[in-house]
Amino acid sequence: MQIPQKRVTKLIDHHKVAAFPPQPRLKRLLEAAVKSPEVWNWRDSSASACTNLILLDIDMTDAIRPLIAGNWKMNGLKAQVAEFDAMLNGAADVTGRADLLVCPPATLIAAFADRARGKKVTVGAQDCHPKASGAHTGDVAAEMLVDAGAAAIIVGHSERRADHGEGDALVRQKAEAAWRAGATAIVCIGETQGQRDDGQTLDVLRGQLDGSLPDGSSAANLIVAYEPVWAIGTGLTPTSQDVEQIHGFIRELLTSRFRADGARMRILYGGSVKPSNAAELMAVKNVNGALVGGASLKAADFLAIAKGCP
Ligand code: PEP
Repeated sequence: MQIPQKRVTKLIDHHKVAAFPPQPRLKRLLEAAVKSPEVWNWRDSSASACTNLILLDIDMTDAIRPLIAGNWKMNGLKAQVAEFDAMLNGAADVTGRADLLVCPPATLIAAFADRARGKKVTVGAQDCHPKASGAHTGDVAAEMLVDAGAAAIIVGHSERRADHGEGDALVRQKAEAAWRAGATAIVCIGETQGQRDDGQTLDVLRGQLDGSLPDGSSAANLIVAYEPVWAIGTGLTPTSQDVEQIHGFIRELLTSRFRADGARMRILYGGSVKPSNAAELMAVKNVNGALVGGASLKAADFLAIAKGCP
């Protein structure tokens, strides 16, 4: 029996507030429970009833719930709130299959978050500055995005890496900034066409994962998005076999560095996902959802992609 790491981390976080039994001890116990099922029924005379309650509260499913995340890029005026409303209205039909996240431009985060309150769609952001405040004209801090209603922040998207020369070290700082503000970081990695042609894909991905993912990454605070640059906005996609091989490679690296957390971290596929190819891509092993650009601008397409999750 496996305890989902995300749930455990949530419970540990929650327990920081309750502070009884002592949090480090509870953390050790829950970590032990994740590793060895036989301690599942563990009881300790000095533990509070609260501990038992927490163990009972743990979700028993082992599956990683898919996430369909929409990246609106630099698209969307106030009038597009109607499209987002259509997503909110249709969400109930698909959230049995996947969680939904929409990342509009920063100017629309507050309006979207207001409308999403109590609904089944979460709102996120597309980038952040690594610092919390200061003299950085035109930049937006993670704290500001979270204040506006963002629960997750995409960092290291290939368009930022290419347009703004962002490297792995900066991406890592941005992921840490997202955590500092209380948001989940969605870290994008992916090879260019040239790197693929030169047979460098796996080396590139290894380098990006090593450099962009901070120590302390967990299934609760970080999501990896594999987005081959040549597939973004082109209508091209890798074959299912290629996706399986690459997501398997990413999973291996995550597990060897982050152990149980790496085994449970979501790995999204991104690059020309649309309703017609979603089911095939989402069925691939170690694909735990999608990061969707163009097709996330239309509610019908975005929801149809979510319906493609197994
Ligand atoms: C993206 O930019 O994150 C993306 C996946 O774009 P598209 O779906 O349009 O290829």
